[in-house]
Amino acid sequence: MELQNKVALITGGSRGIGKAIALKLASCGADVAVIYAGDTASAARTIDELSAAGVLAQSYKCDVSDFSAAKAAVEAVKGEFGTIDILINNAGVTRDGLIMSMKEESFDEVIDINLKGAFNMTRHCASIFVKKHGGKIVNVSSIAGLIGNAGQANYAASKAGLIGLTKTVARELASRNICCNAVAPGFISTDMTADIGPDSPLMSSIPLGRPGLPEEVAELVAFLCCSDYITGEVVRIDGGLAI
Ligand code: NAP
Repeated sequence: MELQNKVALITGGSRGIGKAIALKLASCGADVAVIYAGDTASAARTIDELSAAGVLAQSYKCDVSDFSAAKAAVEAVKGEFGTIDILINNAGVTRDGLIMSMKEESFDEVIDINLKGAFNMTRHCASIFVKKHGGKIVNVSSIAGLIGNAGQANYAASKAGLIGLTKTVARELASRNICCNAVAPGFISTDMTADIGPDSPLMSSIPLGRPGLPEEVAELVAFLCCSDYITGEVVRIDGGLAI
């Protein structure tokens, strides 16, 4: 997969799945801008690894749920890298709880970061893509957005919303040669899922018998970044969990 002379902007690219995507796109030749929320040490480590891969790499601290901050970050990336070709909306959080007890703030926070954050970034990158008549957007959804998950009403709603956003952006921007797709991971080993142990019932319900690796999601995302004829698609990557 070749992404030479392309600039990729990855939200939540400092850790976990986003970091694996950053490294994969860099290995394909793309320069990489990484947005993170607050963990500056992890972001710095990721930038060191990306630079060692021989590409231009820079991190930006930005809360993607903040419309103006997202605009400023996109402008800063464009200023430093010259353009943006690929947007990966990966930043996400969980604030789990049953619907009977879920706090209003927990619902709002997850929707604001996972869904509105993707809207903000897409909204600010769209004009760059339209002007250059090309671009790729990949949204990191979840199988929770496809089949729901008890204890995650906020998270599942945000991830289902991302799928609606994906399909609409794909329809709106297809005439400008811009593709927008989503991936729907199942259980992937990252900090986010560190509390799920090997004895969890979730583990035994994965047909392929193991959690996925961030690198496996990254491979799929890179494939979608290289395709010129897939748009509006949602690809599960879950070891069969949501069959
Ligand atoms: P993670 O290890 O917890 O990493 C989350 C990343 O998002 C970090 O880089 C974090 O930055 C960043 N972030 C969080 N809030 C942000 C905000 N408001 N603005 C900007 N960046 C923010 O998570 P992960 O497991 O890699 O998950 C990545 C994506 O995959 C998420 O959207 C998640 O919902 C989705 N997903 C994960 C799984 C799974 O099993 N892990 C399954 C399905 C879908 P800081 O480090 O600075 O906080």
